[in-house]
Amino acid sequence: MLTRTLAAALSATAVHGPLWPLRLAVRLARLGIRRMQRGLVVEPSTKCLAGCACCIPSEPRDLAPGELAAWLDCAPVNPVTLNLAGKHSDPLASGSLGGITAVARRRALSVSISTNGAGMTPETAALPFDRWIFGLPGATRSSYAAVRGIDGLDGVIEGMRMVLSSGRAMVESVLTVWKPSAGDREAFESLMDSLGVVYRRAVPGIFDPSGNDVGRAEMLAIGDPSCPYRLDPDGGVSLSREPGPCPALGYLFLDASAVLRPCPFCDRPDPSAAVPSRNAWLEARSWEAPKRARNLSHCRWCP
Ligand code: SF4
Ligand code: SF4
Repeated sequence: MLTRTLAAALSATAVHGPLWPLRLAVRLARLGIRRMQRGLVVEPSTKCLAGCACCIPSEPRDLAPGELAAWLDCAPVNPVTLNLAGKHSDPLASGSLGGITAVARRRALSVSISTNGAGMTPETAALPFDRWIFGLPGATRSSYAAVRGIDGLDGVIEGMRMVLSSGRAMVESVLTVWKPSAGDREAFESLMDSLGVVYRRAVPGIFDPSGNDVGRAEMLAIGDPSCPYRLDPDGGVSLSREPGPCPALGYLFLDASAVLRPCPFCDRPDPSAAVPSRNAWLEARSWEAPKRARNLSHCRWCP
């Protein structure tokens, strides 16, 4: 099987034409000369349509297309990849997803979306993404319901079918392994076989120390070989093995308030930039050192 990266590149070339690899090489070279990150993750909304029983919703806010454009228009070089994703949220909940996608499409060479799939509509499924990444917290109705607190897997599968039937984008699926879905790998493979989703993988659920999201201590698949956490005697959570390098070295994060941050997990007192400017992009290069050293606010829980 092709690696996901190669498959994504071939898929983008098929959609955007034979000159796309050349444009990619030029953009990467320009970013490299300026030592800038090649990717930007954008949070289109603080809202989410998954409806988890345990969710403590954030203050609702949608990133305006003009706010994204303001950041991209002052960048010395625009990123190669732009990924729409949620933090404690999901992109499909944005009322401006079409506008955000259009702005991203004009500036980045590859535009993808990571979503939990809840609330898909035919109009959303037809948006011009190069790649859809669906995150499932369980691959059976019962494990999905045990994580989310609602019976929603069928709706997500229906949403995946809408995207798959459009046939334009590469589709990938990720099983997030929580305690109720720790035994779901076989069911996940069968489900993806039945849908025709070729690119799939399982990843461990990430601990959320805020307690606002699914990633509470009691939801972690402690004891599963993939789970990077242990429970401490005082009830806290810590990494059970040496973590790898920062997974966000190649990209920055623009949150739904239009604040640029080092990664989706970072918050005060980590560095950030609230006003779009060329200097803000150049200053953001200095965030790479604390990311490499893993000494930002959330790094101690980041596998
Ligand atoms: S817990 Fe997470 S996935 Fe569930 S509704 Fe809230 S933000 Fe969405
Ligand atoms: S929390 Fe730290 S290690 Fe994890 S992505 Fe962010 S900067 Fe990198």
